[in-house]
Order: sequence, then structure tokens, then C-alpha cells
Amino acid sequence: MKDTTKIIHKGRKAVEHFGTVNPPICQTSTMIFPTLADYDKAEEGEIFYKPLFTSNTTDPAYGIAGNQTHFALQEILRELENAASCYLTSSGLSAITVTLVGLLEAGDHLLMVDCVYGPTRRFCNKILAKNGVETTYYNPEIGADIAKLIKPNTKVIFMESPGSLTFEAQDISAIVKVAKERNIKTVIDNSWATPLYLKPLDLGVDVSIHAVTKFINGGSDLLMGAILSNKETSPRIANIVKNLGISVSAYDCSLVLRGIRSLKARLDYQQKTLKKVLAYLKTEPKVKEILCPAFEGFSGYNMWKKYFKGATPLFSIRLDNKYTNEQLAKAIDNYEYISVGASWGGFESLVRVLKLDGVRTAVSNRYNNTLIRYYLGLEDADDIINDLKEGFKRLS
Ligand SMILES: *Cc1c(COP(=O)(O)O)cnc(C)c1O
Repeated sequence: MKDTTKIIHKGRKAVEHFGTVNPPICQTSTMIFPTLADYDKAEEGEIFYKPLFTSNTTDPAYGIAGNQTHFALQEILRELENAASCYLTSSGLSAITVTLVGLLEAGDHLLMVDCVYGPTRRFCNKILAKNGVETTYYNPEIGADIAKLIKPNTKVIFMESPGSLTFEAQDISAIVKVAKERNIKTVIDNSWATPLYLKPLDLGVDVSIHAVTKFINGGSDLLMGAILSNKETSPRIANIVKNLGISVSAYDCSLVLRGIRSLKARLDYQQKTLKKVLAYLKTEPKVKEILCPAFEGFSGYNMWKKYFKGATPLFSIRLDNKYTNEQLAKAIDNYEYISVGASWGGFESLVRVLKLDGVRTAVSNRYNNTLIRYYLGLEDADDIINDLKEGFKRLS
């Protein structure tokens, strides 16, 4: 079954759930059992009620492990990335923090990519450090040379490719090779690519993480994370999820089940918009550099071609000058369709001015000019281009 069809047909069993196209929303904390013996069996891990969807739960005796609504979504995500298990968490950030807590302990060393999502970096510096885990940030373009940064206590290498602000793409297989030779776990934040454009577990990565909040849901109306892991790593993720008491609501799962069905169609459309917008930006004199892995000439282009099946419409530009806040506000505050805001992956276009001074530590900051990040939503491409054009005129 191709991905496009999996997205539509997994997580659905109409005949078993009264013929409804969509799986029911099962709102429950408690599961009930006919006898004490049945309850005991469930506590030992035996699934009592025949599940409609294949589950990876380790505790089917109580609602915290999820139910049919959760299992339906987990099934789709697992199938798309060939994962052994999928655990859902309350946000993309918590999917990352739960994974790191599950794979690291006091005295361990973590190699973290320098261009990582800001809150992931803050978690390493504020929480992991306090609990005895040391973090070293590495150049995203390091490749096999990451071997030189490994210490006897290095337990995890974390990747985010491309980084979601400056879009450096990593040599995933080179890093996985070094890690595997030394029994080090590899984790990747795969939110930018979605399961459609990159399948990290097929490349030997142990854990792939998604901010479901972004493209997978696609509606900018909820927060959720997903942890997808291979067979070998799955028990460690199950253990931490269970013991931290991680759960998400069935209602949110049903919203994501609705959103994910259109993922392929949305990304296909947005990729076309991206192409048109990049072609325009190439001709715009105020744009000094386009930071997009799918843009020929950008430093990450070769790695993107090697590993990714497509590009999502989140990228940055470097302006020809360092503009003042007032100048930028005049251009950006007056966009007609593009709103100022963090996040991405929804149906609406967004823009942010990036402030990277002092943030990166492994690579010196080469972005002395103003960096702007754009997310292209589902609006008409020509309307977006006109909005951008008018903005650049106001920047004069
Ligand atoms: C948004 C984002 C996250 C976190 O997702 P939330 O659901 O907002 O917590 C993680 N990684 C990347 C790359 C993101 O852009």
C-alpha cells in the first residue's frame, strides 16, 4: 500500500464501528472488566477487548494507555514510518523531552545539533544539565566527523534536519553509521519533513519525533507530539511514557485523524506554491540568500536531494541589509494575508523575524543581516507573492 492510500485507509474499520467512516471518539478514563481474573490479565499486559486497531500499549487495564481512538492514529503514524511503536504526547516539545529523559541518565553525554528547535535547546541547558546530563552542541554539517566529539559516556545523538530556522540539512546516514558502531542511540526531530518526505527509521535512526501540532494535524487548533521508535528502542520509550503518566485526549486524536487524511493533498499543493514563491524571491533584489533545502545553491541542497522526497513550505530569507525594527514592521505588519506568528503547518501563511544573536554555540553566527522565516499556507500562490512584493516595496 502506498503512503497516500495508507493515510486514507489505516485507522479505519467501518464494519466493526457501526459503519461510520470515521472511528468513534472513545472518551474514557476507566476500562471495565467482567471478572477480577480478566482485570488481572489486562494488568499483566493482555489486551482483553479485541482492539480494532493494532496497539502498542503496555497497560491496557486503564485509560491512560489510550483506547481505540488513540490506537487508530498510532496505527497510521507507525505504518507511515515503519515504526514498531508510536506514543502520543501532549505537545511536540514533550515528545522530545520524554524521549531524552527515557534515553539518558545522570553521568551521560548528549550530542545535540546546534540548529535545534529553541525549546529543545532550553530543555538541555536548564533541565538535563541540572540532572547530570552534559550536552555538547555540534555543527549540523559535521557528517562523519561527529566521531571526534564522542566521549565514552555519549549515549544519544540528536538530529533535526533541516533545522527549523536556518534549514541546515544533515548527513543522516553518516551520523547513524558512527552511532551504530558505538552503540549510541540516534533521535531525529522529523517535523519539517513529515513521514511523507523522510522515513528516518528506514535509514537506521532509532527514534523519529513529530510535532503533530504542525503538518500532521494541519489545523492550527491543537498541540500534540508523537514518538516513533524501532523495535529495539521501543521498550525504553514505553517505560518512560508509562512511568511519567503521559496521555492525550481521545477528542484531540479524533481531530488529528481528521487532519491527517488530507496531509498528502496539502503538501502537494504547498510544494507547488513553494516552487513559485522561490522563483519570485530569486528575482527580488532585497533577498540576499534563500535558506531552503530545496533551493539549488543553498548549502543544504545536496543533503536534501540525497535524503528527502519533497520539501515543505517553511524556509527563511536573509535580507540585503540589517533593517531596523521600525523598517521591518512597516513591511511585515501590513501584509494582507501573511500573519505574524510562531509555529507552522496549518492552513494559513505566517512570518517571523529571527533573532539568532548568541543562540548558536558550535558554529559562529554568519547571519549578520536580517533573517525572516516564512511559512506558506494554503492561500493562492499569486496572492502570497503579491503580498511579499508589496512588503519589499514598503521596506525601501
Ligand atoms: C513546533 C516544533 C516543535 C514543538 O512542537 P509543539 O507541539 O509546539 O510543542 C518541535 N520541533 C520543531 C522543529 C518545531 O517546529
